[in-house]
Amino acid sequence: MPPSGGRVRAVRYRLRNPVRFFILMILIFVVVPAILIFARFLKAPFIPSLPEPAPASESAVPVRTPVPAMPKESPASTPGAVEVEWRDFIVALDAGHGGRDPGAVAPGDDDIYEKEITLAVTRACRDLLAQEGITVLMTREEDKALAETVQADLTARCGLANDGGAALFASVHVNSLELTVHGALGVSGMECYYAEKENLFPPFHDEKWASLIGEACVKANGNKLNGVIEKRLAVLRGTLMPAVLLEIGYITNKDDLARMTSSQYLQDTAEGIAAAVLKAVAEMPAEKRNGVWQIRRTDQIVTEDNHGG
Ligand SMILES: [Zn+2]
Repeated sequence: MPPSGGRVRAVRYRLRNPVRFFILMILIFVVVPAILIFARFLKAPFIPSLPEPAPASESAVPVRTPVPAMPKESPASTPGAVEVEWRDFIVALDAGHGGRDPGAVAPGDDDIYEKEITLAVTRACRDLLAQEGITVLMTREEDKALAETVQADLTARCGLANDGGAALFASVHVNSLELTVHGALGVSGMECYYAEKENLFPPFHDEKWASLIGEACVKANGNKLNGVIEKRLAVLRGTLMPAVLLEIGYITNKDDLARMTSSQYLQDTAEGIAAAVLKAVAEMPAEKRNGVWQIRRTDQIVTEDNHGG
């Protein structure tokens, strides 16, 4: 009889069989080390390329972790501050009318035009502001219209101020009354018009700017101020910054006409406007930097600028 199955199996697993011994040796000395080496390779690629911890050195920025600059760690930034941009404080000076449009004409003397008086004032004011380190943007410096139609001309004046980044806008005009109006010849003095709007520099607002300029002008030129009046005129509505339209006198009034044909009055009025600009600058986020007045703009303001344009 053949031996029982149990005994036969027990004999099979002993190492007396040289073939099995040889296979076992291969397992121990070849296959197991191979598995260990392979396992090491599985982990290995992730280990050597990990960045060394950079000991407080900003230059050792690991390529894998491009961490942006941390505003909190910057000594120059304040908590909650956004990007701040300084730009030149620009005053847009708008000489009313021009070219084929003379504006108001002196009664009985058709050589005296509003367009020339307004240009003389803005030119004088430009020079005064330049001496103070304030950049001036003139909507016109010659006897010319800015467009074919009156409406397009007014739009062009607003566009120059808006696109030029002006912080303040002042349009200079000369008033007149129909001589058929009862008492027209007796009306004299100055008015300042404004249109309250959401401008770029709150809380400084249009009415404040108009008040400053009215008070400063009559103080400088000795005329009277009839009022600071809200009126939604084209250049006041179309500008993004605090804006005023200034009537510096009535060409239909004998005394005002005498004033406005005097270079002294025009110079004094220009000094009044310049003084008002300096008062406004003190109330706006502005400061003189390297001899030039500049105004601070935030991201929020730039955004408003974009949608307003
Ligand atoms: Zn006018």
